[in-house]
Amino acid sequence: MHETIKKLSGSPVEPIKMDLDSKFSFRCHKGLDCFTQCCGKIDIFLTPYDVLRIKNRLGITSGEFLSLYTQIMELKKTKLPFFMLRMKEDGKCPFVTPEGCTIYSDRPLVCRYYPIGLGLLKSQEVGGGDFYFPIKEHFCKGYEEDKEWTIREWRLSQEINVYDFVNKDWFDIVLNKKMLASNLEPDERSVRLYLMCSFDVDSFRNFVFESRFLDLHEVDKDTVELIKEDEVELLKFAHKWLRGVLFGNPTIKRKPQKSG
Ligand code: SF4
Ligand code: SF4
Repeated sequence: MHETIKKLSGSPVEPIKMDLDSKFSFRCHKGLDCFTQCCGKIDIFLTPYDVLRIKNRLGITSGEFLSLYTQIMELKKTKLPFFMLRMKEDGKCPFVTPEGCTIYSDRPLVCRYYPIGLGLLKSQEVGGGDFYFPIKEHFCKGYEEDKEWTIREWRLSQEINVYDFVNKDWFDIVLNKKMLASNLEPDERSVRLYLMCSFDVDSFRNFVFESRFLDLHEVDKDTVELIKEDEVELLKFAHKWLRGVLFGNPTIKRKPQKSG
């Protein structure tokens, strides 16, 4: 079983399973007449770190980004909703211009992998792993270029490692066998907290620092300082807490409450 995180209409996905050492030829540049043609009519699923990077690039809050640029989507297999970039009425990505991507250095993970798709087997807990496959749109001239890559080299060139690091705990949650189990149905509150912890880091910050969260939970001073100063650490803290919320096994202990 796998979850494909990129899907284009018209089945451009080649039925080839690649691993980190698989090779492909590809080069994308402004000189090609297909330049930016791939930036439209496309499903771009967003990961938590995508949202963090792009909302900071745009100088808006995560909540503003989600409401202005995304649409929510349900995936039956995980029973959890996800966010996708919302294409404009003409089908184009809101960030594409004739000169290219206006958020290029903060582009989403899916765009970094392209023209490679990422398949995710069930989380490592059930012995799965990632695999890759080529996406060959009929208009894409990049495959005709003679620059050769392994998937490993491509990932490095696209700075994907940092996305792996920040998103790891989140992927482990959404692809966890418990989350995929047919009898697990997260209630409304759990889904609301999942959306906040996954994608809305600014609301999560308010939730931690402007509610009774720190009075109710055992969070040491160093961690409090760290998540106050470092947004990536805050996001990772959110994923840690979320795991406890969804699986009913607290990962951040609650303080004993005084009686009377
Ligand atoms: S070469 Fe492919 S990836 Fe690059 S702009 Fe053209 S269609 Fe897009
Ligand atoms: S975010 Fe950038 S790279 Fe991705 S589809 Fe939009 S314009 Fe293209």
